[in-house]
Amino acid sequence: VQGFSGRKVAVLGLGRSGLATARALSAGGAEPCLWDDSPEARDNAVAQGFELTDLTRRDAWDEVVCLVVSPGIPHLYPEPNRLIARAMAEGVPVDNDIGLFFRSWSTRDWGRMDKTPKVIAVTGSNGKSTTTALIHHILSEAGRPAQMAGNIGRGVLDLDPAQDGEVVVIELSSYQAELARALTPDIAVFTNLTPDHLDRHGGIGGYFAAKRRLFSEGGPDRAVIGVDEVEGRFLANQMAQGAGDDRVIRVSSGEKLDGPGWSVFARKGFLSEWRKGRQVASIDLREISGLPGAHNHQNACAAYAAVRTLGLAPKVVEAAFRSFAGLPHRSQLVAEVGGVRYVNDSKATNADSAAKALQAFDNIRWIVGGLGKGGGIASLVPHLDSVKKAYLIGHSARDFALQLGETPHEICETMERAVTRAAQEAKPGDTVLLAPAAASFDQYPDFEKRGEDFVARVTALLARAKG
Ligand code: ADP
Repeated sequence: VQGFSGRKVAVLGLGRSGLATARALSAGGAEPCLWDDSPEARDNAVAQGFELTDLTRRDAWDEVVCLVVSPGIPHLYPEPNRLIARAMAEGVPVDNDIGLFFRSWSTRDWGRMDKTPKVIAVTGSNGKSTTTALIHHILSEAGRPAQMAGNIGRGVLDLDPAQDGEVVVIELSSYQAELARALTPDIAVFTNLTPDHLDRHGGIGGYFAAKRRLFSEGGPDRAVIGVDEVEGRFLANQMAQGAGDDRVIRVSSGEKLDGPGWSVFARKGFLSEWRKGRQVASIDLREISGLPGAHNHQNACAAYAAVRTLGLAPKVVEAAFRSFAGLPHRSQLVAEVGGVRYVNDSKATNADSAAKALQAFDNIRWIVGGLGKGGGIASLVPHLDSVKKAYLIGHSARDFALQLGETPHEICETMERAVTRAAQEAKPGDTVLLAPAAASFDQYPDFEKRGEDFVARVTALLARAKG
C-alpha cells in the first residue's frame, strides 16, 4: 500500500484481511498499529510475529492518520463500535482494505486504464461467491490471466501485482462496500437485493445505499445489474441515463428483456443475450450440472454479461459453463450413482436459501436441520411438493418435523444416519440434498465442516457399495 510511508495507520480487526492489511502497510513503509477486541485474535496475531497497540488507550491515537476496519466488525448497527466512533470523532479517516486497494493499487501501480488490468467487483445479497468464482473460472478457461479476491479467497491486499491484460475479480460484501473510501472497479456487478443483514445497515435504505456506492457518479465503465427487484431497475435506469447503450447490461432470471439496450436473461432454462432489440446469442443451461436452478441461472447471466464486456465469445463462455464444478457447499454436485444425485448445499443456512435449493431439484430426499432460526421452516411449506421425504438432523429435528405436516419424514439426528437412510431409500431420478435451512453450530464449527461431513459420508457409502 502506497501513500502512508512513515505514518501511523490503525488496523482494527486481526482476521485474515486485517493481517494482510498490516503486511501491506508495513511493505509500503507505514507503521501499522494493530488491535482486535477479541483476546484470541490478538494472541493469534502475536503468535504470527505481529506487534499490538492498545487502541482503547487514548494516547495510542496520537498521529494516527487513518483507521482501517475489518469487514467482520459491525461499525454502526446494532450499536456503534466505540473505537470507530472515536476515530470519526477525532477526525481520523475510516477506511478498509478495499478502499486502500483501490486508492493505491489501481491508480498508482497500474497507470493507464486501457492497457492495465481490469477490476471486476461483484456485490449483491445472494450469489456473490458463485458469480465471482464463475467469472474467474470463465476467464481462466478462456486463457485470460485472472485473480480472485475479497470476500472469497485471498484478501485484496494479498493479491499478486497484476499484469497488463489481467483481470482481478473481487467479491464485496455490503459491509465492505459501505466503508471503502475509494471504490472504482472498471466493471461493477450487482446480483440482486433481498432484505438480508438489515440489522447492520439500519433498514433496507441503508443496505441499498451501501450497494449503490459502487455505482455512483463517475462510476464503472460497465455495470451489470440484476433487475428482478425494484431497486435494481432503479439503479440500471439511473446509470443508463445519458450514458449510451453499452454502459449498463440488465440481467434477469425470468423476465424477457428485449428492449433497445443490452441485456442477458434466463427463461425456461435458456440464457439469451439481446442487444438493440435483437437476440445475439443463446445457451441451453438445463444440462449444465454445476449451475442448477433458477438462482444459478441468474448467476450464470451475471457472469456471462461481465465477461462479454471484456469481449469473450459466447461459445467460449458456454464451454466454460460446462466445466464449472460449482463452489463447495453451494448446490455442489458431489456424486451421481445409479441415477441418484447427491448435492451439498450446506451454505443454505436459512429458510430463504434452502427455498432456492428446493426449487432447483425434483424428487428430493432432503437432509434438513441444525440450529433453527426464527420461524424455522414455516416459509418452506409452499416448496415441499418436490420433497419425497425429509431426513431430520440436529437440534431443530423435532421442531422442523412438526412444521413438515403431511410431508413424509424421519428423525435421524446425525448426518451419518441421514445419509445412510436417504441412500437406502433413493430411487433412480432422486436427488439426495443437504440444504439444512439452519445454522450448523449445534453439531459443527461452521457450515463448511457440515458440508465436508456430508461429502465424506456420501463418499464412504458409495465406496462401500462399489467394493
Ligand atoms: P453469497 O456469496 O452472496 O452468500 P453464494 O454464491 O455463496 O452467495 O450462495 C449462497 C447460497 O445462496 C447458496 O447456497 C444458494 O442457496 C443461494 N444462492 C446462490 N445464488 C443465488 C441467487 N442468485 N439468488 C438467490 N439465492 C442464491
